[in-house]
Amino acid sequence: MTAVARLKQLIAQARRIVVFTGAGISTESGIADFRSPGGVWSRMKPIAFQDFLASTAHRNEAWRRTFSGAAGWTGAAPNAGHHAVARLVAGGKAEVVITQNVDGLHQASGIAEDRVIELHGNAGYAICLDCGARHELDDLREPFVEVGVIPACRVCCGIVKTATISFGQPLREDVLERARAASHACDLFLVLGSSLVVTPAAALPLIARQAGARLAIVNREPTDQDALADLVIHDEIGSVMPRAAPPATPRSAARRG
Ligand code: ZN
Repeated sequence: MTAVARLKQLIAQARRIVVFTGAGISTESGIADFRSPGGVWSRMKPIAFQDFLASTAHRNEAWRRTFSGAAGWTGAAPNAGHHAVARLVAGGKAEVVITQNVDGLHQASGIAEDRVIELHGNAGYAICLDCGARHELDDLREPFVEVGVIPACRVCCGIVKTATISFGQPLREDVLERARAASHACDLFLVLGSSLVVTPAAALPLIARQAGARLAIVNREPTDQDALADLVIHDEIGSVMPRAAPPATPRSAARRG
């Protein structure tokens, strides 16, 4: 049996899959991995959360990067890997997708927002750091371009920031707890495009394994947890997943359309 056929079998046998995605699934949509050579952080220093809070200059630089597209995800579209994951969710195989990515491509592939657990937040909108009110980037762009300032929160006058988790900024405990609970409850933990080095990515597959789930990993490079996995495939996600995920049912096709 080929590795892809084995993955297809594991998916067929599973009843409650958690899909865990990292930068590797989005590099296939042309989004450079932040950490890789040539990635965003090799060209410009990330702005730490404390610096963002401390000075207007840092905040303006962060927003300049957001609106100039310097961060690199502007205009990207979901690829065959994202669409295969969306089929798993639409077909009822996967309950949630846990992702390290901030590009919103799982939602763009048709997965409902409440089924995507974004560990590092989302770059597609902003939130107030004080009251949590959501602000749309389109509403912030004009004042920033014309006056050079991002307006304070319309609700509480707090500081508004893209809804991503920056260096030095704690992950949201409620989001982490959801990710842990889903990992504990699944029967197949499917890793797509993560090297599983950064916490909590490193911990979630272990939670799943300890609760009796199988572990499958599809990643270009070896990961820290290959030795623990039931199946490891070192290949492109967009090549593997369309063959391993079951074909769309009429119901899932209608949802996507
Ligand atoms: Zn506010």
